[in-house]
Amino acid sequence: MSRREKFWETVPLAKMTEEEWEALCDGCGKCCLNKIEDADTGEVFLTRVACRLLDDHSCQCGQYAIRKRLVPECIQLTPENIADHAYWMPTTCAYRLLWQGRPLPGWHPLLTGDPESTHAAGVSVRGRTVPEFEVDEEDWEDHIIEEPD
Ligand code: SF4
Ligand code: SF4
Repeated sequence: MSRREKFWETVPLAKMTEEEWEALCDGCGKCCLNKIEDADTGEVFLTRVACRLLDDHSCQCGQYAIRKRLVPECIQLTPENIADHAYWMPTTCAYRLLWQGRPLPGWHPLLTGDPESTHAAGVSVRGRTVPEFEVDEEDWEDHIIEEPD
């Protein structure tokens, strides 16, 4: 067992074990939705067009272990690169929140002990996505959504 008690409150991101780091993910699936970034303003718009490997019900990656081989553009978040990516990450994402020095939300599975609590709180993408192979990239802007938070 390499998870320390309440590690998310006491251990800096860079000092977490791999298991602790992975456990921070609440399973919302929002980071697996395609975004549109305005080249002039830098503004990021979320779409409901999901990565081809995202399961709309479980909100999990269908091939997590080999995802980089299948989706080279998938970003593997690390303590080293989080500063570069935080700007586009979902506002409820545990990695972003801890990086900002903020606490986890009360519905986070680490606090509830229930992986379904993210979905019950209505902050996941369950049932809200369309697969990217069904929508041409030029039409993504027709699928812009507000982040469920
Ligand atoms: S947005 Fe953050 S918490 Fe949600 S699935 Fe992605 S990495 Fe996990
Ligand atoms: S490859 Fe998997 S983890 Fe990466 S964006 Fe797609 S569904 Fe998400």
